[in-house]
Amino acid sequence: MHEMAITQSVVDAVCEHAAGRRVHSVKLEIGALCAVVPDSMLFCFELATEGTVADGARLELDLLPGQARCRTCGRDFELSDPILLCPCGSADVEVLAGNDLRIMSMEVS
Ligand SMILES: [Zn+2]
Repeated sequence: MHEMAITQSVVDAVCEHAAGRRVHSVKLEIGALCAVVPDSMLFCFELATEGTVADGARLELDLLPGQARCRTCGRDFELSDPILLCPCGSADVEVLAGNDLRIMSMEVS
């Protein structure tokens, strides 16, 4: 379950930026190619924040579809999962978006 490692790094970053303040909510943007299962991530977030300034904080997940371009047929297409395959059948694709995980905002007091 790679959600735990990802979530842990998010929580570390959040706690660092909070600088001792209490964190109430965190909003994340996740590309489809990160292959994160939202439910697993919410569960991991609860575990990872336990005993930190983000304990009990709400996690909002925004899942973004990936974008890729096929080098064989030149078509741009959307990626909804980490399988890099153009509808034409070619696997020679360039990933344009979808690998990112970004902390969009957080609410502190
Ligand atoms: Zn193609």
